[in-house]
Amino acid sequence: MTIAVSPQALPALVLNADYRPLSYYPLSLWSWQDAIKAVFLDRVNIIAEYDHSVSSPTFSMRLPSVVCLKTFVRPARNPAFTRFNVFLRDKFECQYCGSEDDLTFDHVIPRAHGGQTTWENVVAACAPCNLRKGSKLPKEAGMLPRQKPYQPTVQDLHNNGRLFPPNHLHESWLDYLYWDTELQP
Ligand SMILES: [Zn+2]
Repeated sequence: MTIAVSPQALPALVLNADYRPLSYYPLSLWSWQDAIKAVFLDRVNIIAEYDHSVSSPTFSMRLPSVVCLKTFVRPARNPAFTRFNVFLRDKFECQYCGSEDDLTFDHVIPRAHGGQTTWENVVAACAPCNLRKGSKLPKEAGMLPRQKPYQPTVQDLHNNGRLFPPNHLHESWLDYLYWDTELQP
């Protein structure tokens, strides 16, 4: 499982004013167009650049690969409740059988029984397990998730994120991302 980042898109990694990524999940990236706009609005400093330039008849500049906000933004306490983050909390494993294939969401208490779509009631489940469980309660189905679903902290996701680094990281980003520095031999 990887985070899809197209290298052709030449996105800029966005750092908070403390030089840490504005967010990890998803990784804070701006399109080069947005990054340049922010440079001209004087909202960011350029920390590193791509070799690639954009130019018009009157102007040329290298595209920023890392930018840093001039004003500190208080980071979100809790990670966003997203499909990706649920999978990351559950380490991309079906919470019933451990399979890594064909992952879907399962409502532990089914929606038909009033189950909510929340951190505490949604787990990663492979399609066959999800189908088998259907709209039965965990006890009826004899299927309990391996780990009780919970609201993770940003730190929980960081810890799991080390196991699943993105598939594309520009070299200029590496100084600012934990999974490089901590995985160095
Ligand atoms: Zn399964």
